[in-house]
Amino acid sequence: MEKDCLFCNIVKGKTDTRFLLETDEAVVFKDINPHAPVHLLIVPKRHIRSINDLTDEDRPVVAELLMLGKKMARQQGVAEDGYKLLFNVEYGGGQRIFHLHLHLLAGKVW
Ligand code: AMP
Ligand code: ZN
Repeated sequence: MEKDCLFCNIVKGKTDTRFLLETDEAVVFKDINPHAPVHLLIVPKRHIRSINDLTDEDRPVVAELLMLGKKMARQQGVAEDGYKLLFNVEYGGGQRIFHLHLHLLAGKVW
């Protein structure tokens, strides 16, 4: 956990962010500035900066994020129509919060 990391603080329940789902490894909550009618963030509990920092030990966490993406798409009713699962990686890739997260976006025509 990193003291000044927003997503670490959200994971620890230090904000009023409501979780749509929580597992041992990750939490899911709504993006505060949605880019689509459905825009969720799937966030590992452990602080990992970005995709660049993943190690072999993180394989189960990565699998969990993707499986939660699939599960939440179904729960949100967008699985059949389709959706995006997106990792922004580092500043040039659009990442602005440096705690790994998977975006689930759906509900509009791209
Ligand atoms: P990224 O650009 O990939 O780092 O995505 C960070 C995302 O976090 C953006 O889509 C923001 O809108 C979102 N965000 C920032 N602060 C919060 C917050 N307090 N609660 C929920 N989502 C947030
Ligand atoms: Zn963090």
